[in-house]
Amino acid sequence: MADIKFGPAGYPVAAKGRVSRVFSILKEAKLSALEYAAVYGLRMGLEKAEMIGNHARDSGISMSMHAPYYVSLASKKQDIRERSKGRLAKALQFAPLMHVKRIVFHAGGYSGLSQEEAYAVVRDAIEEIWERAGHLGDGAILMAETAGKMGAFGSVEELIRLCHDVDGCLPTIDWAHLYARSKGKIKDRDSYLDIIGRFEDELGNRFVDNMHFHVSGVTYTKRGEKSHRPMGGKWGPDILPLMQIVKDVGYTPTFISETPNSLEGALYTKHLFEALE
Ligand SMILES: [Zn+2]
Repeated sequence: MADIKFGPAGYPVAAKGRVSRVFSILKEAKLSALEYAAVYGLRMGLEKAEMIGNHARDSGISMSMHAPYYVSLASKKQDIRERSKGRLAKALQFAPLMHVKRIVFHAGGYSGLSQEEAYAVVRDAIEEIWERAGHLGDGAILMAETAGKMGAFGSVEELIRLCHDVDGCLPTIDWAHLYARSKGKIKDRDSYLDIIGRFEDELGNRFVDNMHFHVSGVTYTKRGEKSHRPMGGKWGPDILPLMQIVKDVGYTPTFISETPNSLEGALYTKHLFEALE
């Protein structure tokens, strides 16, 4: 299974927030990745960050971080734009302490701008963050996530363009979000291959070497994503065709489960893949 990695988004519930338990649970479950959820802000000191990083390194768990939700790079309000940039810069600063190599973030909504205008604002913001704080990350990169809501920046086209234009930026493909945004069109081998192929054609090995996937079930309305659901039930997307492609081509993505019980989801994903082998 080469370098494919599986893990949850956020701490397993059973760890009750205790860092050492988090990593022992992941090891016992034979999982290899964790996406640290800084979704409500990075509210810890440098010592705590370092402690998390040490546990990650000692247990061989590959770390990513989900940056705060309160990022809105194209907000109508200038102060919100500035604070959003500050949050991503802070994530870059914390990354080496936490042993984090990938910082996943949502760019935010279009805020009434045209998609073209929003693109320019988001691109300039990421460029500025990267110039200001990229060197602090010690090799950590910013991973813009595909958006599930129609009103949010983050279509496949936008992310390809962004990652093409800005150094230090690569995509996180959230398959549930793309499924919701396309109203359920991601369902078979061809639809998965089409999307992976577009990223690979445009971004090449930078994409292939840093493949980062979010998986979960999802419900949606005409506005896009509504809420995350378990996998393997009545909710799409069916990730089996994706797993089959990964196995056939030999890609080595990291799969992060964003199901309501993310540890269960990570195990489900891992077992699904192992069953193909
Ligand atoms: Zn996601």
